Amino acid sequence: MPTPAQTTGSDAARLVSRLEWLLELWRPGVQRRHVARRRVRRASSAVVRRACDMLVATVLISALLPLLLPILVWRAGVGRALTSEMRLGLRRRPFRVWRIELGKSRFAAWLRRWNVDRAALILHVLRGQMSIVGPRAVAVDEHNLAAAGSRRFLVKPGLVCLWWIRRRANIAYGSEWAADNEYVATRSHRGDAGIVLRAVVAGLYGAQPVEIADGIALFGLPLANVTMNEAVRRMVGQLDADQPRRVCFVNADCVNLAFRRTDYHRVLETSWMNLADGIGMKIAGRVLGSDIRENLCGTDLFLHLCEALAGSDKSVYLLGGKPGVADDLRAWMRERYPKTRVVGARDGYFTAADEPHVVADIRASGADVLLVAFGAPKQDLWVAEHLVATGVKLAMGVGGLFDYYSGRIPRAPVWVREIGMEWAFRLLQEPKRLWKRYLCGNLVFLARLARWKIAPPGRNT
Ligand code: UDP
Repeated sequence: MPTPAQTTGSDAARLVSRLEWLLELWRPGVQRRHVARRRVRRASSAVVRRACDMLVATVLISALLPLLLPILVWRAGVGRALTSEMRLGLRRRPFRVWRIELGKSRFAAWLRRWNVDRAALILHVLRGQMSIVGPRAVAVDEHNLAAAGSRRFLVKPGLVCLWWIRRRANIAYGSEWAADNEYVATRSHRGDAGIVLRAVVAGLYGAQPVEIADGIALFGLPLANVTMNEAVRRMVGQLDADQPRRVCFVNADCVNLAFRRTDYHRVLETSWMNLADGIGMKIAGRVLGSDIRENLCGTDLFLHLCEALAGSDKSVYLLGGKPGVADDLRAWMRERYPKTRVVGARDGYFTAADEPHVVADIRASGADVLLVAFGAPKQDLWVAEHLVATGVKLAMGVGGLFDYYSGRIPRAPVWVREIGMEWAFRLLQEPKRLWKRYLCGNLVFLARLARWKIAPPGRNT
């Protein structure tokens, strides 16, 4: 056993050795060594990145050349095969990028959708002006705009970036500059490899056309084809309206349910705003010629709504989940959005006899927004039946979101959402409960989609 004196002595020795180590750092020789080591590390990382870029670009160009050559010959025959424009590169240095000129035909629009016009960018990777992964090469006249996200110029522009993947997956809710800053701050070789893999999946979705309709119908269900910001803006505006209104989130499972249940179909048909949720709806939109602008699931929209309501006099009531879940969510909101008012919370397991008390409690709370988490179709049917009685201005069914933010169930990481696989993540979490919904349900949904595409009901009648 060390005596108190020994203990004090060893503590002092440790302190002195730490001070010596700190002083070492300031000795010019040591400092130089550190700087040199950091430079070597950075240089070797740049060499590895360049080697990977060259390798991937060579493979890509070799694979694509047989496809691109006939297009280039065709375009050269009818005019020009290539055009160029100025872009900003590393440290804002301008450089000229090549683009394949595809013309204005429908075939050209289709090719553009698959980014064929951008294939010439691979040459710039081989020339060292671009990387495989990096922020989009912005046009010179976007310079002022780009100033807001100046960190993006610390790295070479790339063929694919986080923003590009998120746009393809319809989950690009923030700004491009924020996504670029996120990329530069967290850049690593492994991260880049992950982005390339996700880009392969995202590439299969195809780019969105320039023209996207605001209001569309899929499987006979009306959808508000708006962005996240617009959906939240409409919801907040609704809180000062006279009439109460309902919002429904519609995913592939909801479509299947709506085919089976006429009461649910009617609830969706008569809802104020239906929002397309999930990869299934994106695929359906693409196949049926009505592209979905953004993936609007309740779980993401909830955060934007909380932010929009923060500091206002509008309030929220949370109804649903197992006992304690809504209260945990309320506690989470108090911490994360302290300025968003929550005026009530209760679980979603009550009897028919309790129902009048639940409705009376919501009315007495004076809440403006009611979030109901019972799962579909129960939540939407309940909202439709009790909307007026609750006295709220806006109500919506939000599925399992209470479970996520209360910490009961972890949500799929962003990279899983970027490749449209959130449903698979959910399936792995609760296979017994969800296998039917996702494994059988997805197949049924795809079969319905194929049938709707081949023989839309309107054409047969
Ligand atoms: N739930 C409820 N009352 C019920 C049935 C379900 O409050 O009578 C809750 C359940 O605890 C869960 C949510 O509703 O929190 C349903 O989640 P699910 O994963 O089914 O919803 P999804 O997001 O998949 O539509």
